[in-house]
Amino acid sequence: MKKILSIENLTVLGIILGVIAGIYIPDLMLNLKIIGDVFLNLLKMIVIPLIFVSIFMSIASLSSSDDLKNMGIKAFLYYVSTTALAVLTGIIITNIIQFDVSDISRSEEAIKVNHFTWESFINNLIPSNIFQSFAEGKAIHVIIFSILFAIAVVGLANRKKEIIVGFFDGANDAFLKIARWIIALSPIGVFALIGYVVADKGIGVIISLWQYVVVVLIGIFIHAVINLGLIAYIVGKVNPFKYFKQVREALLIAFSTCSSSATLPVSLEVATEKAKVDKKVAGFVLPLGATVNMDGTALYEAVAAVFIASVYGIELSLFQQIIVFITATLAAIGAASIPSAGLVTMTLVFSAVGLPLEGIALIIAVDRFLDMFRTATNVWGDLIGAKVVARFMNK
Ligand code: ASP
Repeated sequence: MKKILSIENLTVLGIILGVIAGIYIPDLMLNLKIIGDVFLNLLKMIVIPLIFVSIFMSIASLSSSDDLKNMGIKAFLYYVSTTALAVLTGIIITNIIQFDVSDISRSEEAIKVNHFTWESFINNLIPSNIFQSFAEGKAIHVIIFSILFAIAVVGLANRKKEIIVGFFDGANDAFLKIARWIIALSPIGVFALIGYVVADKGIGVIISLWQYVVVVLIGIFIHAVINLGLIAYIVGKVNPFKYFKQVREALLIAFSTCSSSATLPVSLEVATEKAKVDKKVAGFVLPLGATVNMDGTALYEAVAAVFIASVYGIELSLFQQIIVFITATLAAIGAASIPSAGLVTMTLVFSAVGLPLEGIALIIAVDRFLDMFRTATNVWGDLIGAKVVARFMNK
């Protein structure tokens, strides 16, 4: 009985009931938004302290600076190669399944999406006031500061080092304990979150864009199950089905919150406690991955570019498809780990191949729905990354 009523199963039930309630009692679900917001705020509350402490602890527990270099390079190679593989999968699928767009009208609507520029991205990479970055939840700033701080602490005299490391070690355990309490609320939290989204958007919008939705979902399925499954099995030497069962709570939360960063407390908890991934690897690869590694987003950006090109009657040449490949990979790395972030960085892909930005207005209606699947894929990619890097670090 205890097994049947596990948090994971209750979370699945929460999602199913949320969809049903969103369809049949939308007014009530719109009013229950507050419950979903509270759950989301609780997750966000713990994310920034957790990122700081887990990256710090991860680096502080490495035996040498070579180990850090080693782990950093492996994580980087994993992130870039799997993201590129995701885009490639998206491009290949859109070449095989052609869109029939005869009944979709072009959009002339001016769009409200902000432009993404690399200049501002790079400019924003270095924090000028770390307390402000903490307060504003800038994950990448906190990561950079945490890495520098950890390297500095490792170089201190033993007595000083032990005090600081001991303090953060305790803080890490305490934060994870809080994460566990929040996870216990997930069934109710996801019920309210999903119920609100279904009540707010309706599911009718999916029907008019069904081809686009289906192609993105097929791509995501192939990447998540086949590509990442094989990488887990062959490179990570782990049974992907077993691993999926151990970490599924994180994927359900990613699906419901549409935010890799809000999911991080759950990913860290399930990876280290349920799947027993080496703590120092998970503590580094998961927070960094939540911020830069987004396979689902990358794939979706590529499919969206080809779809909008078809709607506007633009045939993308091989060269343009290569540009889509490069820019979608970069756009996914640059996307923030919050809902709809992929929509913002998509402007980068569209501008690079000369697609009309108004095209984005056409797909906004189904963005939240697809965001659920791509965020779950993003987090799945991070979790497999932790296993893969751990395998090579333990050698
Ligand atoms: N919501 C996604 C994430 O947090 C990013 C995106 O594709 O919009 O991972």
